[in-house]
Amino acid sequence: MNPFDLSGQVALVTGTSGGLGQGMAIGLAEAGADVVLVSYSKPAATASAIEALGRKAYVIEADLSREDELSAVFEQALAFQGRIDILVNNAGIIRRTPAADHAVQDWHDVIGLNLNTVFFLSQLAGRHMIERGSGKIINIASMLSYQGGINVPGYTASKHGVAGLTKALANEWAGKGIQINGIAPGYMETDNTTQIRADENRYRDITARIPAGRWGTPEDLKGPVVFLASAASDYLNGHVLNVDGGWMAR
Ligand code: NAD
Repeated sequence: MNPFDLSGQVALVTGTSGGLGQGMAIGLAEAGADVVLVSYSKPAATASAIEALGRKAYVIEADLSREDELSAVFEQALAFQGRIDILVNNAGIIRRTPAADHAVQDWHDVIGLNLNTVFFLSQLAGRHMIERGSGKIINIASMLSYQGGINVPGYTASKHGVAGLTKALANEWAGKGIQINGIAPGYMETDNTTQIRADENRYRDITARIPAGRWGTPEDLKGPVVFLASAASDYLNGHVLNVDGGWMAR
């Protein structure tokens, strides 16, 4: 028996057109899962990579910041195979401007997608999983679930919220057979960090502070997400796993 095997399971991953969501969706498929890809823009490359593995990829194009549409999105996802075993709340945005100049709309956009949507989708999945007596929810947190960051007050508030929500839901649902955990990626090479990687000094300083000596990639999240999605983590609840090349240990 392979405790990491996800054969026969259906995962729903949000934000899968590129970046970490793409890496995790492919990782789950490599472990045997079929995957519902929910994305703002068409996740064509992700879907074909999953299909090349012999797994099913179902695509839903949706703007997940539209709270009034989340219920319909979840119902559509459920209809493909009648079950969602794994939910990965990955879709997220960042707006970088100093706190004193931070626009009201930026604050609301970031909190809306990064925190409100994570709660409402977890609630929809949680109701379904409670009925079935099993399920895995994995929330993508951040180093800014612990630290303050610079020029990203809304993002930091949202990611602290994600870490807190992970624990709150775990307390309520661990006894119902559902494991809710988080992954806190360190500094990863994706669109989310284009702006800071373009700042040569900042890029050099950050790289020098990472014990592993390099930034992470979407592939670095494959193992952790499969672990948290599989029976291998059945007694893990409310934990946020740092996947950061040692950043938080420094
Ligand atoms: P990314 O910008 O490459 O990916 C974000 C994904 O979210 C994209 O697929 C995008 O289409 C999707 N998305 C954005 N707005 C959406 C909306 N309204 N509706 C539906 N989908 C939407 O960035 P990423 O680095 O891959 O980010 C993924 C997650 O990882 C985010 O939650 C981010 O906060 C988190 N994270 C990233 C890093 C990093 O260093 N890159 C570090 C810590 C945490």
